[in-house]
Amino acid sequence: MDSYTLPYTFSQRAQKLTSSTIREILKVTERPEVISFAGGLPAPGGFPVEEINAAFDRVLQQNGRSALQYGPTEGYTPLRQWVADDFRKRGVDISLDEVLIVSGSQQALDMLGKLFIDPGSKVLVEAPSYLGALQSFSLFEPVYAPVPTDEGGLIPERITDTLAAGARFLYALPNFQNPTGVSLSTARRQALVERCAALQLPIVEDDPYGELRYAGEPLPGLLQLGRKAGATVVRLGTFSKVLAPGLRLGYIVAPRPIIAKLVQIKQATDLHTATVSQMAVYETIKGGFLEQHLPAVRDLYKRQCGYMLEALQEHFPDTCSYTRPEGGMFIWVTLPEHIDGSRLLERAIERNVAFVPGAPFYAGSPKTNTLRLSFVTVSEDRIRKGVQILGELIRAS
Ligand code: PMP
Repeated sequence: MDSYTLPYTFSQRAQKLTSSTIREILKVTERPEVISFAGGLPAPGGFPVEEINAAFDRVLQQNGRSALQYGPTEGYTPLRQWVADDFRKRGVDISLDEVLIVSGSQQALDMLGKLFIDPGSKVLVEAPSYLGALQSFSLFEPVYAPVPTDEGGLIPERITDTLAAGARFLYALPNFQNPTGVSLSTARRQALVERCAALQLPIVEDDPYGELRYAGEPLPGLLQLGRKAGATVVRLGTFSKVLAPGLRLGYIVAPRPIIAKLVQIKQATDLHTATVSQMAVYETIKGGFLEQHLPAVRDLYKRQCGYMLEALQEHFPDTCSYTRPEGGMFIWVTLPEHIDGSRLLERAIERNVAFVPGAPFYAGSPKTNTLRLSFVTVSEDRIRKGVQILGELIRAS
C-alpha cells in the first residue's frame, strides 16, 4: 500500500481499531472438524424457537402495523414495565423511566462509552475483563486502570483513592464473569458498593449471565446493594442468554438523568430498538415464560460444565488450575508460568482444537499463561476429546 495513497482517509479512531482475536479464531473454528471452546455463543438447543415463532405470529397478526412502525427511543412501554416489575420482584424499586431498551447490551456498552469517555478519561476495569467491552470503550480512547483480581474476582480494597482518582466509572461483572466464570461474594459486593459510594465512582454492572446460575445461592446484585449504599449503579441486562442473542434485545437500568442522556445518544445512534423484536419478546415472556424455560437451560449448562470439569480433572496436569463456575458459560485456566496461551493455541489448532488465549482480556499487562474455555455448545464426547488433546499439549510444553 506504500506505492500510492488511498483515495479516502479513515478517522484516527478507526485507524486505531484492530480485529478482535476472538473473531480471527472463530474463522478457523468454522471448520466442522475443529473442536471449539473459543466462541461465547449460548447453546442453540436452549433457544425457545417455537414459542418465539408463535409470539411473532401473534404480534404480526394482532398488531402488525404497530410492530412494523417506528417506536419511541426509550423502548416499548410494556417491555420496559416488565423489566421494572422484574426488579421490583427482587426487591429493587425501579420505575419505568429508569429503564431504557437497547439493541443488546453490547449497544449499551457503546452508548456508555459515548456518555462517559473523553480521550484520556480513566476507566476502571477488572483484570481480566470482557473483551467486547474493552473494544467498545476503546473507540472513545480511555486510559484503562485495571483493578487487581484474585480467585474471588475483583478485590474492592484495591480500588484505592489513587486508582479511582478522576475515573469516570468502574466496569464490573459480578456473576460468572466473562472470561473467568468467577462470581463476587456478597461480602465483596457490599464492600465494592460502599467503596464506590465513598469515592463517588459510578459502577457499570454488566450481568448477562445472572439468570444462568446452576449451583449455589443467588446473590444480591450491585444495583440492589448500591441503592442502599448510595452508589450510582448503571445495570445492563440482556435477553441474549435467557432467550436468544439473535433478537438483539437488552436493557439499561440507571438513574433518570443518566437514562435521559442515554436516550439522546440512542436517538442519534439508531432511533430505537427494533419494534417487532421488542413486541415479540414481551409477548413471549409476559405470562411468566422465563420461569418455565430457564430451569431447562440451567440444567443443560450445568451438565455441560460438569463434562468440562470432569475432563479437566482427568486430563490436565496438576500444574494447571482452573475456575469452577456456579453458572454461565466459561472456565478460566491458569497454565504453568512458562506456557503462553497464544502459543498453546497455535499448537492446538494444528490438532483441531480451539480456545481463546487469556492475554486479550487484559486491558493492562496480561497474564499470558491463561486461557478461556467455553463449554456450552460442544457435545460431551468432543469436550472430552478436546480437553484430552489440550492436556497432552500442555504436558509436552
Ligand atoms: N456483556 C458480556 C459480559 C457478554 O459476555 C456479552 C455477550 N458475549 C455481552 C455483554 C453482549 O451481549 P448482547 O449484546 O448480546 O446483549
